Amino acid sequence: MSERFLPAVEMTIIMLKKIWVILILFAGLALATPVLADATSTPATPVLMYHYVRDYNRPNDKIGMNLSISPANFHKQLDLIEKLGYTPTTFKAIKDGTAPAKPIILTFDDGYRDFYTNVYPELKARQIPAVTFLIYNALDKKNYLTKDMVREMLASGLVEVGSHTLNHPDLPYIRSAKALREITDSKIFLERDFNINIITFCYPYGQINKQVVADVAEAGYTYALTTKHGLADWRQPLIMDRYRVDNRTNLASQLKQHEIKAAKIKTRYQ
Ligand SMILES: [Zn+2]
Repeated sequence: MSERFLPAVEMTIIMLKKIWVILILFAGLALATPVLADATSTPATPVLMYHYVRDYNRPNDKIGMNLSISPANFHKQLDLIEKLGYTPTTFKAIKDGTAPAKPIILTFDDGYRDFYTNVYPELKARQIPAVTFLIYNALDKKNYLTKDMVREMLASGLVEVGSHTLNHPDLPYIRSAKALREITDSKIFLERDFNINIITFCYPYGQINKQVVADVAEAGYTYALTTKHGLADWRQPLIMDRYRVDNRTNLASQLKQHEIKAAKIKTRYQ
């Protein structure tokens, strides 16, 4: 029997069933949305920490070696990140709620010039973003980014700039008024020179104490990163650790471990 010949009561029942199905679909969507937001922002987004991307082989300079990854290895890591289904994003996108599914953030400390020569071409070729933490007073100095390079990269929309102070001091060990200036003025000067909004800070040497973190909050930063190796805990956005990456890093196993840790946190706090 076709719908056309059904008595009015049965037609009403069919209509009610249809409405019921639509209601269930909407309820499902409403329930699914917070879960999705949780998976794409807190606390699962891993943050990688790089310094130099360069060919460097001076075994006597342990610090220099530990802070460097070769351009070839970096290229392979980007391939792997893509293969594992991660999509690089920025802190701004996380804050705005526009981050992609399975996000990852690539950060580069100190504003070395090789970010422009060895990282930026990869970002352009792959159309992926990254974050660079600039030491304001090092800009335009030898081996550091020039302001023009920063302007060009900002115009591409592929680079987010964060502050890494004016002079890269050990913040807890300098006078508190000076520390506050390092934190506050670097934000003001970067915003003024590049006409941008700075939301992210990076502690030099990862050194923090209560006062320094309070200063960072007062200066108006949304996120602040340490140099400690570990999971970035997005519930404490001003004290977030990162995964240190160098030539010896097995990024596949690091990200696997991250997924296990992130799942545990989610279970614990749900
Ligand atoms: Zn640094």
